[in-house]
Amino acid sequence: MSSSRLNLENYQIPLEEIKIATENFSPQRCIGGGGFGEVYKGKLWKRGRNRTVAIKRLGKDSHQGEHEFRNELEMIRRFDHENIISFIGYCDEDSEMIIVYEYAENRSLDHHLGDPNKIRHITWMQRLNICIGAAKGLNYLHSGLGEHNRVIHRDVKSANILLDNNFVAKICDFGLSKSGPRNQPDTKLYTKVAGTQFYLDPTYHESRILQKESDVYSFGVVLFEVLSGMLVYNGRSIGDQQQFLMNLVRRYHDNEPHKLIDPYIRDQIDSRSFDTYKEIAYQCVSYNLKDRPTMDAVIKRIEEALTMQAYLCFRI
Ligand code: ATP
Repeated sequence: MSSSRLNLENYQIPLEEIKIATENFSPQRCIGGGGFGEVYKGKLWKRGRNRTVAIKRLGKDSHQGEHEFRNELEMIRRFDHENIISFIGYCDEDSEMIIVYEYAENRSLDHHLGDPNKIRHITWMQRLNICIGAAKGLNYLHSGLGEHNRVIHRDVKSANILLDNNFVAKICDFGLSKSGPRNQPDTKLYTKVAGTQFYLDPTYHESRILQKESDVYSFGVVLFEVLSGMLVYNGRSIGDQQQFLMNLVRRYHDNEPHKLIDPYIRDQIDSRSFDTYKEIAYQCVSYNLKDRPTMDAVIKRIEEALTMQAYLCFRI
């Protein structure tokens, strides 16, 4: 038995405990669902304290299935970073496959972007901090796992960025992630294309060659969602036409990019902060892979945008 297997066994949670925590998977405890199955909120006694947790149960008719369950487990048990959701344990018993995570009080970023009553209360400074946190989580996957390891997330989107009680961003959902060596500068993996439409890098879609730059593209889409306060798959009406976000992004590139700014934050956003942010966001979604920045560069630029914004607030 390998030592990694032994480590994972320490994280097993008996099904009985999970049933108690979810009141036997009661619909009242269910907080959502995705391709993997349902997610429940519950309380578990773990490592000496009672913790609120999110319990993800593989659905019987899940199209993602066992392969992604094992992949997610294999990935998440290796991670240790403030901006990656914490793994609490798992259950693989009686044909149930369940993963338990730390509970993120403010749910996923897409919940806020999809609800004008929520997103209007998130200031530009808070939005920048969320982006910096998420970028740090991704940077950790791309280059923080040691000299020989790199993880490409492969499904970066606002639904996979969770927010804790302080709105600290936590990357989640590693069912599609791929692990590869990091010591070659341009790690390339040939894969069956996977990810979520609207966030998917068109270059990866065409070539089927997966590189970390595909995550950077998807992250760029999230940056534009945060700037505009809208989800990439929801349209905005212009005249009598519904336009999707990425069409607007391409259309406003050369002139009037400020039209992309969410009206709720238009009055508070500093123009230099906006310029810095917009510039790096456009680089992320460049069709040319070589023009896309590293996540490290993305963090630096958004931190600069934050400093510029903070300076403005300080002067006021
Ligand atoms: P898919 O997995 O198909 O891409 P998804 O990402 O929307 O879809 P899940 O990851 O299964 O679906 O999550 C479903 C919902 O449960 C999310 O929208 C999120 O709000 C909530 N959720 C998931 N994990 C947590 C968590 N750790 N803390 C709080 N809420 C969570």
